[in-house]
Amino acid sequence: MSGQEFFQAGERVGVLTTQPLDRLLDYRAPEGGCFLGAYVEVPLGPRKVLGVVWGPGAGDFDSAKLRAVIRVLDVAPMRGEMRQFLGKAADYTLTPMPAMLRLATRAPGLSDPPSMRKILRRGDGVPDRMTEARSRVLEVMEQYGGLAFTPRELADMADVTPSVVKGLVKQGALREEEAPRDLPYPQLDPDLPGKALTEDQAAAAAALAEGVQSGRYGTTLLKGVTGSGKTEVYLEAVAACLRAGRQGLVLLPEIALTAEFLTRVEARFGAKPAEWHSGATMTERRRVWKMVGQGAAGLVIGARSALFLPFRDLGLIIVDEEHDTSYKQEDGVLYNARDMAVLRAAMCSAQVVLASATPSLESWANAEAGKYKRLDLTARFGAAVLPQMRSVDMRSEDLLPSTWISPALKHAMKLRMERGEQSLLFLNRRGFAPVTICRACGAQVACDHCDARMVEHRFMKRLMCHQCGETKPVPEACPSCEVEGKMAPVGPGIERLAEEATGLFPEARIAVLSSDLFGSARALKSRIEEIARGEADIILGTQLVAKGHNFPLLTLVGVIDADLGLQGSDLRAAERTFQLMRQVAGRAGRAERPGEALMQTFQPEHPVIRAILSGDEESFWKAEAAERQAAGVPPYGRMAGIILSGPDLAAVFDLGNAMARNDGPLRQIGAQVFGPAPAPIARVRGRHRVRLLVKAAKGVPLQEAIARWTAPLRLKGDLRLSIDIDPQSFF
Ligand code: ADP
Ligand code: ZN
Repeated sequence: MSGQEFFQAGERVGVLTTQPLDRLLDYRAPEGGCFLGAYVEVPLGPRKVLGVVWGPGAGDFDSAKLRAVIRVLDVAPMRGEMRQFLGKAADYTLTPMPAMLRLATRAPGLSDPPSMRKILRRGDGVPDRMTEARSRVLEVMEQYGGLAFTPRELADMADVTPSVVKGLVKQGALREEEAPRDLPYPQLDPDLPGKALTEDQAAAAAALAEGVQSGRYGTTLLKGVTGSGKTEVYLEAVAACLRAGRQGLVLLPEIALTAEFLTRVEARFGAKPAEWHSGATMTERRRVWKMVGQGAAGLVIGARSALFLPFRDLGLIIVDEEHDTSYKQEDGVLYNARDMAVLRAAMCSAQVVLASATPSLESWANAEAGKYKRLDLTARFGAAVLPQMRSVDMRSEDLLPSTWISPALKHAMKLRMERGEQSLLFLNRRGFAPVTICRACGAQVACDHCDARMVEHRFMKRLMCHQCGETKPVPEACPSCEVEGKMAPVGPGIERLAEEATGLFPEARIAVLSSDLFGSARALKSRIEEIARGEADIILGTQLVAKGHNFPLLTLVGVIDADLGLQGSDLRAAERTFQLMRQVAGRAGRAERPGEALMQTFQPEHPVIRAILSGDEESFWKAEAAERQAAGVPPYGRMAGIILSGPDLAAVFDLGNAMARNDGPLRQIGAQVFGPAPAPIARVRGRHRVRLLVKAAKGVPLQEAIARWTAPLRLKGDLRLSIDIDPQSFF
């Protein structure tokens, strides 16, 4: 790339567009010229598309036919470090650049001209007479001291009709003004007093702040049990970042967590940060995108895609619950936000804090190897202590058929009921029953489009495929043998467990927390808040509850099936189970009362179960690390998954076999290719899926070899190929 930063009108520029083309397109710079990195609208055939000026034009296109950039958008040009980041992320994930640019421009209405809207402020006029509604409106104005609202917002906040607001405008008590639609975010004040930190916490906070003040890149693993004050500590790093005049980003794995978090940020810094996630409205998203680029948003709380926002001066990225699997994007551009955060920070001299009670083996190993710093918070804050953990040996518990709550667990729950405390039962299975079987012929109901069993959801009164989302009614007659009335659910899902709990404790208030039972993130959020206030006795939850909610009255966690995560061929099965169990157990006893965690298992002597119970994390990691090192798998080796799919199984396998045979570029770097084999879910939405697995030593140019390997392929018809570098799951 040349050093040229500005292009005069008529000069040839190379534009990267969001369209799936494999090169830059040449255009003439528009009237008035444009900066390198400018967001532009360019003509492409009959359409106008979004693009970014990426450099000088290549010059191999006939100048006479060269078209001009239509216009430069009214947003800050993309910074050099952002272009560099997108380029590196593309190389790492083997993603075409246009797809990266789409990720970086995912805000609606970017190309709309800057628009104005009507806002209201307090005026000098005195209303002729005061009604209750009118005084409510003026109270809201008073309360928010000088802030401006749209007429609509104001009416909503005061709970009055729009005509009341209009009346006050007419009387001069409110004054109308025009303001830009996207307003800057209120400034956060890093100098408001924070909580008094304990000695441990203060030391960790100082170390993080020092990193931020250095103005250089660095990554720190902040490890501490749930409740040890990691959030308090990293908020001090945010304060240091704000003081340095730079922007901060906090990534959270779950939107439902943001409510509690926003309140904490507001308490610490006196104002709310910007929010970026799928639950935010289009208007909010556009505002965040634009304000971040102007430096008018000091702190963003967001989901993984917030990493691709055009920060003007990003100084700190926090990845909270860094081990969480939802950081890995599993469709479209396959990236791991944790790794991309480190990449982005390296590009813009920022610090990264990876916070977790149960770090991923990758981060643990990076800290061991000295690539990351590591800070440990060992004690829980205040009176809270880690729960007692015990296994319940299911081989010696007496259970009725089709029940899953052991007498030991039931007894512990009963105690909580008597003491007015909460119990939580954890089962990582949505729906009523994982399998529906015909008791006459043994057939199971499978999805018509996928090789997956249909899961009964009694709440919806339907069977559902967890792969593709297809639903159908529970059949009266067996689809296979046509005998009627013999279809029966087998195994427990969270809804069925709720039925069992209701039977055992008819007087209990039971809350079921499963992602599919809530229409919106907002509904889930408010349910979680109700539970935290004590409006439930027994909570039943799927994976959702393992994340950082704070339930002060919760003192018992029962893990229904601790063995569930230990099965399967997933490389990370042991690690996942270990993390999940520790997280769930961390829910108990967060406040003053001590907690207890009971894990129902048929294999109490399993090394993972034993490590969880003994709480000896370092020895768990050392053992797991040694096993992976011996097998040459991540993080001690490299892997990539290639998924091929298409409607015709034979064609998909032919392609896979051809790829496995022509593995020259892989052999050159000493990599091996395994497969093709049917993917664990071999058919999704009517498409057959076949996978190849590439294994290589650490430190070899894997991406480059895969690019050379796949470049000559011409995918015929409906065949698709996707590449997953560092696959997390094996689907
Ligand atoms: P983690 O992020 O490690 O789970 P939190 O930062 O959420 O821990 O802390 C757990 C609870 O303890 C929170 O309610 C937090 O406000 C409180 N807490 C932690 N440290 C302090 C402190 N030094 N002073 C007051 N409250 C604290
Ligand atoms: Zn399906």
